[in-house]
Amino acid sequence: MPIFEFRCLKCESEFEKLVFGTSDNGISCPDCQSEDVEKLYSCFSGVSKSSDGSTHSMSSGCSSCAASSCAGCKN
Ligand SMILES: [Zn+2]
Repeated sequence: MPIFEFRCLKCESEFEKLVFGTSDNGISCPDCQSEDVEKLYSCFSGVSKSSDGSTHSMSSGCSSCAASSCAGCKN
């Protein structure tokens, strides 16, 4: 189960939440109930960055081109 760390932008409280899928909607601070939170990647660095600088994120295009406008991107 993916547990992400969040930090409340309002009261700067840090907390952990179990997040299903990629949606982080509805995450609210347990202290002040603000939904103005940011996700921290201390536990799961995932696809955000790699040390060799060759990361291609999944949203940068399809497998056959580097853009997002070829015929394969429309699937
Ligand atoms: Zn808060």
